[in-house]
Amino acid sequence: MYPKLSLYINGQFVSEDGRTMQDVINPATQEVLGKLPHASQADLDAALQAAEKAFATWKKSSPMDRSAILRKVGQLTRDRAKDIARNMTLDQGKPLAEALGEIIGCADHCDWHAEECRRIYGRVVLPRSPDVRQLVLKEPIGVCVAFTPWNFPYNQAIRKICAAIGAGCTIILKGPEDSPSAVMAIAQMFQDAGLPPGVLNLVWGEPAKVSDYLIRSPISRKVSFTGSVPVGKLLAGLAGAHMKRATMELGGHSPVLVFEDADIDRAATMLAKFKIRNAGQVCVSPTRFYVHKKVYDNFLAKFTDVLKSIKVGNGLDDGVEMGPLAHERRVPAIARFVEDARKRGAQIVMGGDAVAGKGFFFPPTVITGLQDDALLMTEEPFGPIAPVVPFSDIDEVITRANSLPFGLSSYVFTNSLQTATKVSNSIEAGMVNINHFGSALPETPFGGIKDSGIGSEGGTETFDGYLVTKFVTHV
Ligand code: NAD
Repeated sequence: MYPKLSLYINGQFVSEDGRTMQDVINPATQEVLGKLPHASQADLDAALQAAEKAFATWKKSSPMDRSAILRKVGQLTRDRAKDIARNMTLDQGKPLAEALGEIIGCADHCDWHAEECRRIYGRVVLPRSPDVRQLVLKEPIGVCVAFTPWNFPYNQAIRKICAAIGAGCTIILKGPEDSPSAVMAIAQMFQDAGLPPGVLNLVWGEPAKVSDYLIRSPISRKVSFTGSVPVGKLLAGLAGAHMKRATMELGGHSPVLVFEDADIDRAATMLAKFKIRNAGQVCVSPTRFYVHKKVYDNFLAKFTDVLKSIKVGNGLDDGVEMGPLAHERRVPAIARFVEDARKRGAQIVMGGDAVAGKGFFFPPTVITGLQDDALLMTEEPFGPIAPVVPFSDIDEVITRANSLPFGLSSYVFTNSLQTATKVSNSIEAGMVNINHFGSALPETPFGGIKDSGIGSEGGTETFDGYLVTKFVTHV
């Protein structure tokens, strides 16, 4: 059963009761799955007050107690993974196996934060005078407000919630209205795990109105957002105007560098399968494919062969490897990139047109013959569309890879240690994957540089954005 959709404020699930209700649509069939209540201003005030009140006690809670709750949520995540995954496929569209992989991976995120929150340390600084003691303390920052997107509904929300709660903060999260079921499941699990009322609150609504209200409130102290660069800049600006800490996980335009000494079949196969993951709606999706001219034809042939074999369809159907785009807005958004490429005389090697009929389907699409200033080479496509272009020289390709304002992830395929070292030293990206895909584990930091964001999630850095530093000195 698709779950009943509610707000979760001060430990209570609340729904209709005169609130604006939004349809939640299955992107594979366009059927209405459920109705989502929008928070009124009174709801947002209630969430802010609940989070403020709960912070007074939660900030003093033992890390052992926080750890126990996070661990319990990890266990519940594993226990309930199948149901949550099915509902996520219904409202987000990704194939069931991918949804299940996301949920199970998130149980690890819970465990990691449960372990790491017991290791939030301060330090003692040696004094200039023997009578003086100097302590550096790390304290939870306060009420956090977080805004998470629809592409990885469970993962994006759980990382922010675990970091806030593990650090001793309280949090109000606005989840993705297009794909809300996974975030509903998270709220239910924290309640079942015994989290005190008000520590986690969940709201929905018009994104711009909700974020504006919550960020301006004097109660909130920290803003965390995952989404597009333009919205991130807007929210970071608002946070700055109100002197609030911000963590921003924003978009990318990941360059892929395939050198002539790489295992071309392996690179092309791995990259094709990674490209269509979540129908390309991944901030670290491989996006601009620069392939050495000596191996360009071989790479393109293998890459398109693998993509042609991908079964596209309803994510609940057996054998489907790529589902629909997550919502209706994404179809014209992807078509716009193809239209620009066509106007420029590029070659549409495969795909290129939305699939007719029910559902928001767009096939894997490969485009060649694009100049570096084409829309697809400069704006984040966020879909199953790949431009493949040749290069001749390592310095040239590094310059081209670094030419955009984005700096999230990057991918390199080479069998030369010298090339791998040179590229990893010079590429402007928060994450560099060489000959494999290894980002987004709980124990490693995930984040971008340049326009792709501020701060990291995961790794030992995970609590940095949720703690403030206090210096205490006494004689
Ligand atoms: P969009 O820009 O309208 O929304 C992107 C996300 O930001 C959504 O989750 C939305 O609810 C939220 N959002 C939008 N305006 C907001 C505001 N003022 N305050 C708070 N949240 C706000 O576009 P879309 O069609 O939903 O998504 C497409 C674009 O979003 C993509 O091109 C991609 O760049 C970006 N995106 C990035 C990620 C990521 O993981 N970095 C995830 C999802 C979407």
